[in-house]
Parts: sequence; structure tokens; C-alpha cells
Amino acid sequence: MNFFKWTYFIALVIEIIIRAPIDKKRKLEKMRARQVTDQEQTILGLLALGGLVAPIIYAATNWLDFANYQLPGWAGWLGVVLTAVALYVFWRAHTDLGVNWSPTLEIREKHELITRGIYGAIRHPMYASQWLLSIATPLLLQNWIAGWLNLVVFIFFYTFRVKAEEQMMLEQFGDQYRSYMQKVGAVFPKR
Ligand code: SAH
Repeated sequence: MNFFKWTYFIALVIEIIIRAPIDKKRKLEKMRARQVTDQEQTILGLLALGGLVAPIIYAATNWLDFANYQLPGWAGWLGVVLTAVALYVFWRAHTDLGVNWSPTLEIREKHELITRGIYGAIRHPMYASQWLLSIATPLLLQNWIAGWLNLVVFIFFYTFRVKAEEQMMLEQFGDQYRSYMQKVGAVFPKR
């Protein structure tokens, strides 16, 4: 397995290590509201397929070899740089959001609206980080299936999730979230 493939899987392991302690702590916090639709469950399943199952099949078997392509060396290195930036943003977002993080749309009893740290620059740093990783994937996993599925699924996820999440945040935090939206951009900082 070459270095670029390794980079992808090491990045996943680092994400798990960053997330694990927060996941443990947040489960101790009482929940106030939860919003899990079938549509969301399906998209989360597809994300696992694109981000994990397809890459593992690609790396561990030769079943997807017919869809391989080869990019020049610099493209793989660009993928490594994008992955490093993605991991940095992922880490910062987890540090700032803390126990307010959840995999599905949830509000804790003591939910705090975070607008500091990286949340003072963009509203969706975790999704920004996933954008970066999804763009890096076709550069690291040079295969039309394993490299691109992540990005295709994430485009769907992002479109549905952000709308539902912001709706939920507006219901919970009202004008506080509305003014936050006016001041702070979604995945690009406002000037
Ligand atoms: N969209 C954010 C958070 C993803 S985790 C990001 O990309 O970084 C999803 C959960 O985070 C949601 O269930 C919501 O309860 C919570 N959340 C999102 N933005 C928040 C904020 N600014 N402050 C506190 N909680 C937030």
C-alpha cells in the first residue's frame, strides 16, 4: 500500500482518536431534543459506505482495480496537505464544540451556543473539514469509485443536513443564532 493510501486511513484513525473522548463525555449529558429522520439515517449509512467501506475494499482487495487512475506525484501531495488542514480544523472544532457535538441533530439540556474559537470564524467547521477531506480523497485514493463516492455522498449530506441543523438551531436559540448567521459565514469566513 502506498503512502497516499496510508494517509487516508491514518487520517480516519486520527479523527476517531480526536472524537472518542468527546463522544464519551457528551453521552453523559441529558438530551432535550433529537431529530433523526429516515432520510438522515440513510445518508449517514451512505457516508460510512463512501468514507470507509469502499476505501477498505479498494485497499484490501483488487475488486475495484478496474477503476484505478494515476495522477502525477504533486496531486497526491496536495491531497496530503488538504488532509492535514482538514484534521487541524476537525480538531479545533471538537475542542470548541465539546459536549455540544452529536452525530445526529440533537440538543442537550444544557446546550450552549458556541460562537467562540473556530466557531467565531465559520459556523460549520466540522463540515468544512469534511469538505476538505472529501476533496483530498480522490487525490489520495486514485480510483473512480473509492476516491469519489465520499464526495458525492457528502454533497447530499451537506445539502440536507445544514438546512435541518440551522432550522433546529433557530428554533432553539432564535435571535441569538440569527445574528450569529449574519456575522459568521457557513464554511468560508466572511470578510
Ligand atoms: N455544524 C457544526 C456542528 C456539527 S455537529 C460543524 O460543522 O462544526 C452537529 C450538532 O452540533 C447539532 O446537533 C447541533 O446541536 C450542534 N451545533 C451546531 N452548531 C452549534 C453551535 N454553534 N453551538 C452549539 N452547538 C452547535
